[in-house]
Amino acid sequence: MYQNSLCPTDLGIIMSYQCQCACKHCLYNCGPHWKEWMSLQTLREALQATRNWHHRFQVHLTGGEPFLNFSLLLEGVRLAAELDIPCYVETNAGWCLHEDDVAAKFATLREAGLNAILISCSPFHAEKIPPARTFLAIRKALDAFGQQGTIVYLPHCLEQVQLFDVGKTTPIERYVERFGLKHAGRMLWDGYSIISGGRSGYALGHLTHRRPAAAFKGQNCFLEIVYAHHSHFDLYGNYISWFCGGLTIGDWHNLPQVLDDFRARRFPPLVDTLIRCGPFGLLEMARAEYGYQELDEGYAGKCHLCVDVRRCLHQREKFVELQPGGFYEDALWPGRQSLAQGDAVGPNDPIQDTKKE
Ligand code: SF4
Ligand code: SF4
Repeated sequence: MYQNSLCPTDLGIIMSYQCQCACKHCLYNCGPHWKEWMSLQTLREALQATRNWHHRFQVHLTGGEPFLNFSLLLEGVRLAAELDIPCYVETNAGWCLHEDDVAAKFATLREAGLNAILISCSPFHAEKIPPARTFLAIRKALDAFGQQGTIVYLPHCLEQVQLFDVGKTTPIERYVERFGLKHAGRMLWDGYSIISGGRSGYALGHLTHRRPAAAFKGQNCFLEIVYAHHSHFDLYGNYISWFCGGLTIGDWHNLPQVLDDFRARRFPPLVDTLIRCGPFGLLEMARAEYGYQELDEGYAGKCHLCVDVRRCLHQREKFVELQPGGFYEDALWPGRQSLAQGDAVGPNDPIQDTKKE
């Protein structure tokens, strides 16, 4: 029996995958093309589902970008306060254009019971959001929530993004031009502790050392899936362990059943393979049964390998574990439009830029 499995101390509620940014490092493939939002009823159910846990935890309301639906975000904060669940909110600050608007929204959330706000800051966000907006969000968050309630993720990136004009967005390539690929790679990929899942392995893999699939043999995902301290419930009912975007371990509407299954070591088949054998085990199955072909240029990490194999599997068959379906839509990915045709992914293929704010 697994003791205390699936006991996250920080649970994210993904209210939507919609985001104005579509960052290259996004683990959930978020962007403006996603249109759906959690209903208020589903949000209430998601928060109430956490009643099945009796350990100490907090929730964060997130996306996508949760401020794109401020009325739902506000209701979520109110509900969390009613249920006495410590809560913080994440934002990319892309909406922070006017001081009065930012101050008013933060004050409203604080009055509704919000404890803290996390503001994203990195050169990857700064490709999409002029850092001046990030700084405005930080100033107003300090006014509303104080030092303790203002979390900048990551603080050392404040200095990095000020290397360029903070009134504009700056492509990652400017860092490579200024510092060289090796130094920029250490600064950006290692400095941010990039996880290679989602888009990042494809769009940013050139910033790190790529290795063949065999290098990941023996690296299982037991801890990430079974003992994740950070997990997510999304608007479609997917329970996503750790940061494994596009992989559901069950439906959080049936949380008691999911918890029972994990205690009894009953895992969905693909999840079972990942827990025991990691993505290389998944690759062996996909190669034998679905004709998966390895990427010639290698993989930026085990999660890059995992996502690439899962994309192949999703194209070939309907696997219940590969959710939400929108995560796998070809149009969202940099390069490799059709895995079925065995197209290669260019190392520096740019993702389609979306809305420049
Ligand atoms: S701001 Fe966050 S949610 Fe939006 S695309 Fe970037 S990483 Fe993803
Ligand atoms: S390899 Fe896959 S299952 Fe394992 S941690 Fe990465 S994304 Fe999650």
